[in-house]
Order: sequence, then structure tokens, then C-alpha cells
Amino acid sequence: MDDIIHDLFEWSKAQHQEAEWESDMPTLTRRLGFNYRRHEYSFYDPDSRTIFVRYDATSQEARVDTAHELMHAVSMEGSPSYDAVLRYYHASVSNLDDHIEVVTDHGADRFLMPDGLVEEIVKKCGYTARAIWELSRFANVNIYTALRRFVHFRPDRRVAAFFSSGGYILGADARNLWLPFWLGDRIPEPHLLLEHGISTFNIPNCERQMLGVVLVDDFEAA
Ligand SMILES: [Zn+2]
Repeated sequence: MDDIIHDLFEWSKAQHQEAEWESDMPTLTRRLGFNYRRHEYSFYDPDSRTIFVRYDATSQEARVDTAHELMHAVSMEGSPSYDAVLRYYHASVSNLDDHIEVVTDHGADRFLMPDGLVEEIVKKCGYTARAIWELSRFANVNIYTALRRFVHFRPDRRVAAFFSSGGYILGADARNLWLPFWLGDRIPEPHLLLEHGISTFNIPNCERQMLGVVLVDDFEAA
């Protein structure tokens, strides 16, 4: 991982730890010294140090939006801020704003699903598709957010995951690994998945919704 991003994540993690790993996002927002209000859309206002979260968000969406804006808020603290440092050193990336948004999402995932929680679930379920489902339930986040956190949890691992509905891939992410199918593709037949060493999990009470994980286990489990 890039040094600046690594430091930013370590710094936000230290603040989360100081706030005793608070899991309620509006409470965490206040404990980290920011205001929290509802609004027509979600954004962070650095002048009033206020995180605004859209009225029409479900409780799960509000949670994810708050974590995202909180990560922006934390990145803009200090002088120079991590936001400013990232924009300076990563100025050559093709779309800097998109790049910042991706970094912010990954940082927000850590507020929603701290290392301790992911470790506990991986210990219980292994690096399996079921772990993504459990993570989404315990952290009260959607499947896509849990899937991203799971895949990027250990930066050295070679892991990929997908979410499918009705036989088509709706979500996929990979780290150090190439997945032979991607968004919009039809998923291969189950016996082919097994040939690839893919673990699968059918989402309870949702017909034909499935999670899958490919793990190339050539690293010692840390
Ligand atoms: Zn953003």
C-alpha cells in the first residue's frame, strides 16, 4: 500500500481506538469532535466541522454515508492535512477526485468494520463467502461494502470475491488475483466454481443470491 494512504489509515485507526472503537457512527462523529446533522444530501462541511447525512437514507445507508463523510473530515484535519498531502503527491493520477473517493471509501470501511471485528469473523468462518455475509450482518452494512472490506483486509493476500443475483455478477472485487469473470457476466456452473476452489454461500431468504470467494493460499495466515 502507498505510504501516505497507509499513514492516513493508521492515524484514523488510532482515533477510532481512542474513541473505544465506538460503533455508532453519529456518536463516533461527535466523539472525534465533529457535528452531525441530517440534510437533503450527504456531505462534509469543513467550515462548520459538520457531517450532513441525507434524510432519505435507510439506517444502513446512513451508517455508510456517515463513515464516508467522517473519513473526509478526518483527512482534512491538520496542516497540512492528509487530504492536501494526497492531492499533492498523487497529483499525477488520471482522476484525482475519484482517487480520493476510493481512498475515502476504504478508510470508511475501517470505521464500519474495524480490524478486530474482521479478525474475529475470519477466525470463526475462515476466508470464506460466509464470512462476508456475517461481516455485513454484524457491522450492519450492505453486501458490497462488506465484500470490499473482506477482500482488502489483508493487503498481502491473493483473494477475490463476488456477489451474484439470478446467475449474474452484481459485485466483485479482487486483490493480487485475477477473477475469470466480472460485473455483468454470468457466473459459471457450480461444478466449475468448485474446480476453481471457490467457496460459495447462498444468502438466506434471498432466492438465487450468492456470495463467492476465491483464495489462493500461498501465504502464511498472519
Ligand atoms: Zn466522498
